[in-house]
This record gives sequence, structure tokens and C-alpha cells, in this order.
Amino acid sequence: MPELPELEVVRDVLQRRLVGRTIHDVQLIPPGGPIVARDLANIGFEAGLSGASVASISRRGKFLVVAFQSGSQPLLLAVNPKLTGRLQLAGSSEKRLARTHLVLGLDDGRQLRYVDQKQMGQLYLTRDLASVPGYAGMGPEPLEVSLEDFRLRLRPFRGEIKGILTRGEFVAGIGNAYADEILWAARLHPYRKRTQLAPADVDRLYEAMRLTLAEAVVQVRNAMQEQIHLKPRDFLAVHMKAGQPCPRCGTPISLVGANQRITNFCRSCQPGGLIKGM
Ligand SMILES: [Zn+2]
Repeated sequence: MPELPELEVVRDVLQRRLVGRTIHDVQLIPPGGPIVARDLANIGFEAGLSGASVASISRRGKFLVVAFQSGSQPLLLAVNPKLTGRLQLAGSSEKRLARTHLVLGLDDGRQLRYVDQKQMGQLYLTRDLASVPGYAGMGPEPLEVSLEDFRLRLRPFRGEIKGILTRGEFVAGIGNAYADEILWAARLHPYRKRTQLAPADVDRLYEAMRLTLAEAVVQVRNAMQEQIHLKPRDFLAVHMKAGQPCPRCGTPISLVGANQRITNFCRSCQPGGLIKGM
């Protein structure tokens, strides 16, 4: 799943490559295209975007928002790639990846494509982001929230700390992978209950969240370059590293869960917590 670091780098690349460009053709490719594309503006993807020029690219939580100037009114394409969606920049003659659902042809001969293996992500065409499901209720950005606000916002949650970190209404943009990384950096067991955390644990979690995400943006930028459909994660410390030595203490990394819900952590550096499923 693309999370804050990947989407932040994608935003940078698209800002450089897309702003000022005009869309000259739009292809919504069946059968997946109509499933992932939601037209909340009632204008039609083809009619709304053909001839529109890209005004800006922004990121909020796990959404990327492309703002178009189309006629007198701005039009927005909000992309929520969820677990399986990716954007790709490609030359028009470059072979399409399987499961490409939307292709926006640009006036410089490139294409912005949306690829999604399982059609879990969504593309919303809208004039008002408040109408996009899941957008308005998002919590603050993890790199912008203050320590004081972080402490206050955490208080009403009573569950396991990993689950809380991945809830967009707490802070926006952290998913399964970076929650594991942040908790490892904070030396907190992922299944510790929020109610079991001391004030010093919460403060350490806040610092770990900021450092981990900020460093990941740099790592992802170096590894991704302009290949925005890639998901470089080799540099992660624990996520998807089960059995490998913990970079801090050498203990083999533990694994709990399966598929998209894998949790990795170090039993020695992150003690405590009841371990589910073991
Ligand atoms: Zn360790």
C-alpha cells in the first residue's frame, strides 16, 4: 500500500512533470476503469478532463489530488490507491502494465496511468473534496501535528497502538508497513494497549513517527527516481523482514498475521504486549 512517504515522492515527481501540461486524451479502460473511477462531478471523465490543464498536485493522508483548470471552474481528481493501486508515468508507446484502468495522454507525449491489480483503489472526479468518501474525516498530517495535539488526540483511543496509528482519523497517511517501522523505532510492542503507554512512551512514539517518515521520504526519493509505480521498501528495518536480524540488536524479526495484515517487530527491542495468534 502506498503510504505517506511513497505518495509524498509521487507528488513531487508529478508536480514537476505534470503542472502546466494539458490532457489531450482520456481513456477509461473496461472492465476495471468504470469500477475504480467515480464521477462525483457528473461531468464524465472523458468530457471533464479532455483539454484540461494541470494546475497543481497535492497530497493529504493517502490521497493524491490533481487539480485541473477546465473552463472557468477547477476540477479535481482525487486518487486513493488503497492496497493495490499505483500511478505510473510512461511514454505513449511504452507497453501498458496489466490492469491499467485509466490513461491520461499529456501534450508532451507522456501518459499518466492508473494501475490497480485488484481494483481496490478509487479515482474520484469532483469539484468538492468534502464529497470524497474518507476525505473530510482525516486527522492531521503526522509531520505537521504538534506533540501536544498528538497526546490529546491519542487519549480517546483504547485499543492496540499499531491499530491506532493506522487509523486515518487519528493521523493520516500511516499504513501497515510504516506503523511497524515507527513502533520499532519507538521500541514499542505493536500490540501494547494505548492505556498501557506511559507519557514518556507517547512522546517517544511521536518523535519516532516524525523521524521514521521524514527519513523514509528521503530513502524512497533516492530509490524511486521517476519510476513512481515502484514501491521501494528494501531499506525498511522490520516490515517484511521476518527472520532477518534486527538492525539494532540482531534478534530475528518476528512475524504475526498474514497477507496484507502482516505485523513484524523485534521481540527484544519491543518487549511486552500479548501476542495475538501465537
Ligand atoms: Zn531488536
